[in-house]
Amino acid sequence: MNVYDSMRIASMFRAMGFAETDDAKAADAIVLNTCAVREKATNKVFSELGRLRSNKKPDAIFGIVGCVAREAGTDAFRRIPELNFVLGPQTYHKLPEIIANPGVKLLDIELPGLEKFNALDNSAFKIHHSAFAYVPIQEGCNHCCTYCIVPFTRGRELSRPFDDVMRDVHAAADAGAIEICFLGQNVNGYKFSLANLIRETANIESVKRIRFTSSYPTEMSDDLIALFGTEPKLLPFLNMPIQSGSQNVLTRMNRPYSLELYLGIVDKLKNIRQDIQISSDFIVGFPGETDEEFEQSCDVAQKVGYINSFSFKYSPRPHTAAALMPGQIPENIKKQRLKILDGILNENNRAFNESCVGKIFECLVEGPDKTGKHLIARTPYMQQIIIPKTDSALVPVRVTSANKCSLRGEVVKNQS
Ligand code: SAH
Repeated sequence: MNVYDSMRIASMFRAMGFAETDDAKAADAIVLNTCAVREKATNKVFSELGRLRSNKKPDAIFGIVGCVAREAGTDAFRRIPELNFVLGPQTYHKLPEIIANPGVKLLDIELPGLEKFNALDNSAFKIHHSAFAYVPIQEGCNHCCTYCIVPFTRGRELSRPFDDVMRDVHAAADAGAIEICFLGQNVNGYKFSLANLIRETANIESVKRIRFTSSYPTEMSDDLIALFGTEPKLLPFLNMPIQSGSQNVLTRMNRPYSLELYLGIVDKLKNIRQDIQISSDFIVGFPGETDEEFEQSCDVAQKVGYINSFSFKYSPRPHTAAALMPGQIPENIKKQRLKILDGILNENNRAFNESCVGKIFECLVEGPDKTGKHLIARTPYMQQIIIPKTDSALVPVRVTSANKCSLRGEVVKNQS
């Protein structure tokens, strides 16, 4: 969601006549978009703001948006008096007001819901790269996981109207998007049916790949699961965070699903679509997590054979119940556990990547690699693959080699 918000902020500035620069010293406006999910990222925000305020042009418009801005509120102005604006994750569409009145200080960390989507000019929204677009379908979250700050920073879950979402999908397709990714904290809980959104999007001839992130296990409807078997444009790759492999830890996290239910969904998906791969998020060192409970996370990581997963050390957050729970785990143990789990997840990636060698996948080109000599593309499983230059945005590629992070491939000329 933050990547999407940053993209929209950048496109608002482009629409106001600004151009991007990597050089903060030369910028006429500096906006720091922020994430409050973990403490480390939050701490970095104020040190970065401190660095920027002494390096920026004296009259540059300077501000902070996103979840850390919402958390800090007026305190952000106290800590960094040079700030011109502090805007939350649901109010950044007010940025043009500050550009029009650079002398005022603007604070708005309210949660007006879906207002930002309607205020943003769709035609000005330049998609991430030519062939790919994020389309948000929700804002906020209604699950109250005991570790998570998101319901406080982004508010309660709201689904955007179906027609508004489809309008954005059509705009993205008209601008050249071949792949659409539906976005939200909990997209499979979308009130007006994610399955119907996918079906309607698949009817657009020029859209070839559809995916969504992130999903909540108890909201995987049978309709949505079945779609993996019937809709070829829906990629065979699903992000469905389990967070922990221990039933007790899941209860303490207030993630009220059983391991049987979760693993049952994985089985259903694998029966419906044999080539499907699942990705997860994991938290290690949740309060009270015993060695045995941690090992259950390792076991499930191995059992499901997740790929492209994310693992985090538990970070206590304001407003959350888990921050006050007894049995907070020392940092050194969290670190050790993260290393062990990462070892398993990396091994899964390596094994899966190697199993892809010799296979042919349709890959979506993202752009040139660092050297400018090759292109970076994405397989249907979101693996990064380095390929020779080609003019097409979606190309059949034979995987020629693999390591744990990425693949290399050759474009298949005459596929028969
Ligand atoms: N609903 C979103 C949550 C966004 S946060 C989603 O499912 O992706 C992304 C991930 O950050 C979560 O899945 C979780 O694994 C992790 N996370 C959230 N709060 C955390 C915390 N307090 N400490 C460590 N990791 C956390």
